[in-house]
Amino acid sequence: MRVETLLNKFSIKGINYNPNSGGKGLLSAEEQLALVGLCWQKSPVGWLVLFVEGLRDTKALKQLHLETRKEALRLMKSWRGVYPDKAITALCATAIAEATQQSGQVCPECNGSAIVVDKHRNRCKCQCCKAGRIVWTQETRFAYFSQVLSVTYSRFKRYNVVLSKLMCWLIDNRTVAVMAMEKQVEKECTCCLNI
Ligand SMILES: [Zn+2]
Repeated sequence: MRVETLLNKFSIKGINYNPNSGGKGLLSAEEQLALVGLCWQKSPVGWLVLFVEGLRDTKALKQLHLETRKEALRLMKSWRGVYPDKAITALCATAIAEATQQSGQVCPECNGSAIVVDKHRNRCKCQCCKAGRIVWTQETRFAYFSQVLSVTYSRFKRYNVVLSKLMCWLIDNRTVAVMAMEKQVEKECTCCLNI
């Protein structure tokens, strides 16, 4: 099941949630999850990944950057030599982009439609992407990283060792949150969820 569908099923609105009608107080992300029997504390980072992925939640993205930065700094402790602070920013941005869009970034040439119009106004298949997505490869990861820290490819390869670990950390956290939701969906047939 898609992440959007899962979050929707549980009526989880994320951190950005801001009901405009008066009366009811704002529910925190933690409270929204608790209402449907899910636990924020099991994987805060995983929930943030899902909120960014499924709800394009900008507040969650900010928080996710902060958390990922802590992990990146921890991983960089064993780094030999000097690195600029921007390297941490580049690592976090690239890892988050991939973890929250695992099927790839939306293609900028066809805007994700996989169809482009040629000069004779014929609709044809976009040559830039796969089904509207730019899939992740070493090349596209390097390109993304270089937008923040424009280094040589050989230098990037060193950073990539840390990048891979950071990615795994995000994906593992995401998996915990997804599994919690799937488990809860299975339970649903015993009608304990009033959603
Ligand atoms: Zn395309």
